[in-house]
Amino acid sequence: MENSKIAVVGGGISGMAAAFYLQKLTGQSVDVFEKQQRIGGCVDTMTLEDYWLELGAHTCYNSYTELISLVEGLEMGKEVLARQKAAFRVLKNGRLKTIQSQLSFFSLFLNLPKSFLASKKGKTVREFYSGIIGRKNYEQLMKYMFRAVICQEADDFPADFFLKRRAKKRKDYPASFTFQGGLSSLVKRIAELKTVNVKRELVFALEKQDKGFQLVTESGDAYEDDYVVLAVPPQAASQILSRSFANLSGELASYAQSRSKSFGVIVEKASVLWKPTAVAVSTEGKFMSVVSRDTVNDENFRGFTFHAKDDSVTLQEAKQFIQKTRSVPESAILKIEEKLQVLPKLSWKQEELVRSIQLELEDLDLGIVGNYFHGLSLEDCVQRAREESERLAKRWQTNG
Ligand SMILES: Cc1cc2nc3c(=O)[nH]c(=O)nc-3n(C[C@H](O)[C@H](O)[C@H](O)COP(=O)(O)OP(=O)(O)OC[C@H]3O[C@@H](n4cnc5c(N)ncnc54)[C@H](O)[C@@H]3O)c2cc1C
Repeated sequence: MENSKIAVVGGGISGMAAAFYLQKLTGQSVDVFEKQQRIGGCVDTMTLEDYWLELGAHTCYNSYTELISLVEGLEMGKEVLARQKAAFRVLKNGRLKTIQSQLSFFSLFLNLPKSFLASKKGKTVREFYSGIIGRKNYEQLMKYMFRAVICQEADDFPADFFLKRRAKKRKDYPASFTFQGGLSSLVKRIAELKTVNVKRELVFALEKQDKGFQLVTESGDAYEDDYVVLAVPPQAASQILSRSFANLSGELASYAQSRSKSFGVIVEKASVLWKPTAVAVSTEGKFMSVVSRDTVNDENFRGFTFHAKDDSVTLQEAKQFIQKTRSVPESAILKIEEKLQVLPKLSWKQEELVRSIQLELEDLDLGIVGNYFHGLSLEDCVQRAREESERLAKRWQTNG
């Protein structure tokens, strides 16, 4: 169908990947509506001169085969940057400790043989991992490591949805990588395509018309579109759909969400005492972890992102915590930025919810993508965006 109007709501990795695939598969241009001035959502790279630091997502792996295909589709292979190895540590009483010092090896060896027979089915993360590494190791260390990985408590998550093992690897890519300009380069490159137009507008509602849809923005503007993809958190999608798609809206409203806050700090390299550390997992207080940029060395600066447990933590509290770690003298801080993080919580109803949303969408020129279908990772988001774009492109061809 020539001159179809295609819109994506939400300019995170899911929305930008959907825009990429839709313009590629249909040859039509795509409008992306993003409520913030900055695109990227959870992909958010702060900068100081040529230095960058990730406030949100920080790592891609060579098992991210969908994301690598996207990188290649954008001809960004040359910008891929291997992350160097740096230690994982535990932060306790303001001091860095080794992981080994926090483990009970007795409990580990006693329980490890069980791992060969253990099944994740029907178990929570706590039940499954306590079973294979011992309850003590889980409660003293592992639960905090998991919390640091997914930026929220993982204890009661369904174990079989958590930390998926991916079957394939692209051995021609570094095991873990980023980009020369940080992860935001990926979404920015999509926004630079001539066939992708980013509009800085908050979408308030989507109304079904006799033919196509009407998108209503907060500023009161209305846009007619033939195909629409929602790439916003489930609560936002629920609100946008409430006028014309009551069932979908109700299903999306049932997703719980976790809100937390992160503080990115860029400092003069010479003034930092910490040994190179990839991640310091915090087991106490209001902070879950500190993710550093030590995996990509810089001559002049070091950067640390302090991830707090919830969104009520203030900048003042973050500064106090930073001082307590004795890692970063306040006088050496060159730049500090804070960011609100919103992530869906995985639930036991996950599979059922996804199945039911898929069924509702089957006969619609409407797509829904995001980190609440296959999983939270960037890879899961790109996979869902590709699949939904392919479904809509097929409908576009048939309608034509
Ligand atoms: C701290 C942190 C670290 C992480 N680290 C990693 C990592 O290292 N590797 C990895 O694979 N994954 C990581 N993840 C997970 C991954 O980053 C996210 O799951 C993924 O980026 C989510 O992308 P998304 O596009 O689905 O959603 P989002 O990034 O949330 O994007 C949604 C977008 O929609 C916009 N929006 C919302 N409502 C509206 C509206 N009404 N109108 C218009 N726009 C709207 C928002 O402003 C936002 O830009 C991390 C996540 C966090 C929070």
